[in-house]
Amino acid sequence: MSKSPSLGVETLRRLVEASRILNSTTELSELLPFIISEGAVLVGAQAASILLFEPETRKLTFVASSNQVHRGMANKTVPLNDSLMGSVFRWDKTVIVDDVRKSREWRPEVDGMAGLATRSVMGVPMHDVSARPIGVLQAANKKQGTFCEADLETLSILADLAGVAVARARLIETLREVNRQLSELDHLKSEFIAVASHELRTPLTIIMGYVQVLRENAGDAETLEQLDNVLKAAVRLRTIIQDMLNLQYVDAEGSKLTLTTIDLVQTVRAVIDDRRGLAEAKELDLQVRLPDVRLRVLGDRSSIEVIVANLLSNGIKFTPQGGRIDVVVEQHGKEAWVRIRDTGVGIPTEKQQRIFDRFYQVEPHLRRHYQGLGLGLSVVKDLLAIQGGRIWVHSEEGRGSEFVAMIPLMII
Ligand code: ADP
Repeated sequence: MSKSPSLGVETLRRLVEASRILNSTTELSELLPFIISEGAVLVGAQAASILLFEPETRKLTFVASSNQVHRGMANKTVPLNDSLMGSVFRWDKTVIVDDVRKSREWRPEVDGMAGLATRSVMGVPMHDVSARPIGVLQAANKKQGTFCEADLETLSILADLAGVAVARARLIETLREVNRQLSELDHLKSEFIAVASHELRTPLTIIMGYVQVLRENAGDAETLEQLDNVLKAAVRLRTIIQDMLNLQYVDAEGSKLTLTTIDLVQTVRAVIDDRRGLAEAKELDLQVRLPDVRLRVLGDRSSIEVIVANLLSNGIKFTPQGGRIDVVVEQHGKEAWVRIRDTGVGIPTEKQQRIFDRFYQVEPHLRRHYQGLGLGLSVVKDLLAIQGGRIWVHSEEGRGSEFVAMIPLMII
């Protein structure tokens, strides 16, 4: 078994320092120049360069070189077959060539790209954290003497430290890019929702207006019943459109909210009065406990109405006929809590955080009993956050749920 050459203390110290720096940066644009300058210094070479493997083209691409004219080399490729560094990569082996003119695999055009007359060259593979080769680190022209085993060992250690750092930086770059694309898609989706909801609202208002007129003039009970059904469907559609429209408050990051001092108790009472009919239609026992005093909060009235209305509508929607809904408003120190409890279907524990995500619904879409877009709770969560509040849920599947919306009180 061949014995590894021992490395000098100074070399080891530099490698440790290099490892520290490589671990502390995730920017490729900083990593690459550092690796090549360290590589060249550590092995006493005139220049160093990095070639990374591009899976799409199956070529090695020069991504950095310590030579002055590296711009000319940037993104130049060498094939995997028929090139010295291609062999290093393909066979995952190191190579030292003292005189490249004697190597069949040396590609003289690289000299042209680098603006360097290469004499001696040393190449080592770079690996990612799972020891898969990702590219090659190359040093050219030993300044004094020839490249030795110790140089090879030194460059190999640096290449592996660098390989892990480069692979990680590339992954982070890819993630950033994917994240950017997702944000763009999310933005487009929000724009689509905003435009669609506005466009749908106007014709719906016209339809509802005409149906009301027709209802008033309906001559017989059958026509009246049919028009009632049309009206009910239109009201359902209006609720969905309103859910979509509410998103714009959130997407404008609160810039559309008008913050004023409002009495939370009175606001909650108004929403309950508005929805009482819905609860009664399902024969739900709606119990309300509000404090006798005012609870002043700094908030946007219509957005607080949306918060309470969404929670109450969900309670009504997800509670079977004959169930019970409790609405309680209470003060907890500097906070006001609006608790809406129902005896409905409940939410499985593992889904309780996801229900606050946009479009998430516990029921599978194709077998749904309940109507809605899955937007209500995400709007509630975001609207509360913009106004310094919070929402949480306690729920047991099959037994019911309690949603608590916290809004900071105005203490003067
Ligand atoms: P939507 O009600 O339009 O589907 P939401 O964002 O308001 O959208 O709610 C998301 C999901 O959370 C609902 O589809 C439902 O699965 C679940 N959920 C919300 N409120 C309740 C509740 N009170 N009881 C049971 N499940 C609920």
